[in-house]
Amino acid sequence: MPKACSAINCPNRDTRESRARGLSFHSFPKAHELRKRWMLAVKRIEPGSRRLWIPGAGACLCSQHFAQDEFELYGGQKRLKAGVIPSVFSFKVLWRGEGLVVITEPATLERSCLCM
Ligand SMILES: [Zn+2]
Repeated sequence: MPKACSAINCPNRDTRESRARGLSFHSFPKAHELRKRWMLAVKRIEPGSRRLWIPGAGACLCSQHFAQDEFELYGGQKRLKAGVIPSVFSFKVLWRGEGLVVITEPATLERSCLCM
């Protein structure tokens, strides 16, 4: 099973085809504080407990959720700069209070900008 992007509404999987399209896949950071910020950015809620979704060991995000200038080239590989937080998602987000998030209806996926 190829790794799949953990973002809501994102169909990208870590396959040779998607890599050929220029996508890269990035695991959730290990550092606690940064990991938490990624979790908040992703805004997934566990359907059962309605608590913030906890990324599993294989959880990752594809490069479409980061701005272009948040990458650097390292040994010919695209990697994220240190401390970067994903910011590009296909749903609308409302914030309510500190750390409390509400997921609104997913915004319409814009296919044209999904295939860079
Ligand atoms: Zn993705």
